[in-house]
Amino acid sequence: MKQVPHFPQAILPDDIDKWYFIEDKLKNIMHLYDFREIRTANIQPKSLYEKYFDVAGEYGRYTANDMLITLSDKDDLCLRPDGTISILNSAISKMAVSVPQKVFYMSEMYRRERETYRQFYQIGATILGSTNIISDVEMIHLSKRLLTSLGITDFSIEINSCGDACCNKKYLNALRDYILSNDELCPVCRELCEKSPQYIFKCTTPQCHNIAKMAPIPLDYLCVQCLNNFNDIKRLLSNLGTEFQIKPSLFIPFQNNTQFVFNISVADNADKDNSQKITIISGGRYDQLATDVTGNTLPAVGMTLDVDRLTQTMQSKGLYSEKNKDFSVCICTASKNMELLIVQIAQEIHNENINTVICYDNIAVDQINTIAQKRKCSVTLLFIENLIREGKVMLVTYDQNQNVIHQDKITISGIIENIIRIKKSTGK
Ligand SMILES: [Zn+2]
Ligand SMILES: [Zn+2]
Repeated sequence: MKQVPHFPQAILPDDIDKWYFIEDKLKNIMHLYDFREIRTANIQPKSLYEKYFDVAGEYGRYTANDMLITLSDKDDLCLRPDGTISILNSAISKMAVSVPQKVFYMSEMYRRERETYRQFYQIGATILGSTNIISDVEMIHLSKRLLTSLGITDFSIEINSCGDACCNKKYLNALRDYILSNDELCPVCRELCEKSPQYIFKCTTPQCHNIAKMAPIPLDYLCVQCLNNFNDIKRLLSNLGTEFQIKPSLFIPFQNNTQFVFNISVADNADKDNSQKITIISGGRYDQLATDVTGNTLPAVGMTLDVDRLTQTMQSKGLYSEKNKDFSVCICTASKNMELLIVQIAQEIHNENINTVICYDNIAVDQINTIAQKRKCSVTLLFIENLIREGKVMLVTYDQNQNVIHQDKITISGIIENIIRIKKSTGK
């Protein structure tokens, strides 16, 4: 029998409020900084991603074919594996790239890892078209504010500079020479580091770990101009009171980073000595990648937020606050042939922009409160044949803890007026 691959699961209604919580907060912050949303297509040209995934896929261990989810053998199509490259590709034709553009995205990305098909959610922002260090610093401040708006305050910022394309090439050559001249190197690194020398930082064997510790660092290969740029950013951050540490080995795969890079991490709650950190946001400048993808000289700086790690952190810190449920009206009937009345009254309530929960099945009169209490409705309207003949319905009002405050017979013509009055009194 053919093995069924693992595939992504749906987000169910019980979990969706957590997603709304994050998305709503983050959208507000993005707008605060003048970023506008971009929604790139889920289906992308495969050839656009191949060369970057060949080099950077788990730092060179996997090829594009191992990681991209292709749609057919003959067409050049795959599911979007990365936010940054898809934005740059859109920039070629759809946006005026001559003026600075500030865009953000909240989208699913799709990648294959052996027999597993991954769909993960990425949130990111990019400033296209500016080399000004204000835009680099803005990325750090945007990232900080995104986290604090969600209640995460115990984060730390690490920064580094990888230099421009010229300095970075010198560094990578030096790194490669250093690694390959080492006799202790494990066989995997010996094979991979020729193409992707940064794989040494990913390797977990003890001997390679030691080799990585002593490896050359990009800062030692910066030209005067690149060094000045990094110093200017550091000075600006310090003057603004933004705390950071320099991490000399920091780089971000897939971005061919040039100049400034940063990481924002939080302590891992599961780790007892709190020495382990989880990186939630990474970002930096990628002028070279932007120029490469678009075919025009295009400076770009951006950040991406790992939503899976963010949601784990939010969960472990208990930061999701339960959404105060909107005012809603439960409509049920204990008698037959009430369909017309139910739909009419529901429409009138909707006209007032008030939510309804309609029970499709008849209920017994003594169950009048069960559904309203389960669905956290503020009010129940019950239609009973005897009362309807008198032109009346039963109205029950609840407090915040779903206890009955009031139960009364009211006229059908007074339903809307009564509901509006109760809604006002609850302040919802
Ligand atoms: Zn190794
Ligand atoms: Zn340089």
